[in-house]
Amino acid sequence: MSLLSRYLIIAGALTAAFANFIACGAQMYKVSLTGDHDQKEGTSLANSTDPASPEFGLHAPQGWRNLPIRYKSDAKMPAIQLKGLQSAMATWEIAVGRKLFQYGGIHASVTGDSFPDLYSSLRDGINGQYNDERWAKTGKNNMILATTIWNNPGNAYQTIDAADIRYNSEIYFISDALTQKPMDQREIVDMQSLATHELGHLLGLAHIGEDYDSSSIMNPSILIGEGIAMRSLSVGDIKRIQKIYGCQATACDADATARSIMQSRTSFGLTGGPAVEEADPSSEPGH
Ligand SMILES: [Zn+2]
Repeated sequence: MSLLSRYLIIAGALTAAFANFIACGAQMYKVSLTGDHDQKEGTSLANSTDPASPEFGLHAPQGWRNLPIRYKSDAKMPAIQLKGLQSAMATWEIAVGRKLFQYGGIHASVTGDSFPDLYSSLRDGINGQYNDERWAKTGKNNMILATTIWNNPGNAYQTIDAADIRYNSEIYFISDALTQKPMDQREIVDMQSLATHELGHLLGLAHIGEDYDSSSIMNPSILIGEGIAMRSLSVGDIKRIQKIYGCQATACDADATARSIMQSRTSFGLTGGPAVEEADPSSEPGH
């Protein structure tokens, strides 16, 4: 069986696990994502929790003022983690059919630990992706996996002009959960899965309750552990991101786009190169 076929089966099983929270491995934990995002300033909020509102599921209904979003990575971010981040970015780009992100290289000498608190990282004019190894100074609970912070120009919630994501690399080993193992007593967290969620916030999406869309990447909890990844988007996720950024060409068919993301190599973190055929079942993750 091809790697792709096996992963499709696994992805389906994980989606089911996500919906029902059935742990199929001893090393799998459900972690709350409540409190993983903050608006720096702002005098009002979008009506993100009312399903009848056009702003349902959105915190910044008009999204970024300028695209693509230029970003830099932490000076110490390992290549495997950066790859997970960029695969997550590619997933959101497929969802709208346009380029959303542009890599500006490494933020020289800067990591999350360079900043004394949570919001100061927003003041440097760089949209950064940072690892924090001294998480307490973010003011966030130790269990929180990552946090996205953004600035709303003019204190109006509708648009965003700057954002950072800070990853809790003190408590968690944030890497590729399909190929790596826990490290130094830190549980492994799949970077691509986590980044897909956090980038949803960065782009303007709010949390969506499991009762409303149980397969949304924006559910307020995530399963972590070795072999656990949730790298796809629900049809609802695609419709909500298209409310902000519109859609181009075939991306406008949200159902087809969701299937295409599920089936694409992007959803496995493989951003380039030929399709890989792999026959060794002993490497199958997840169970
Ligand atoms: Zn969140």
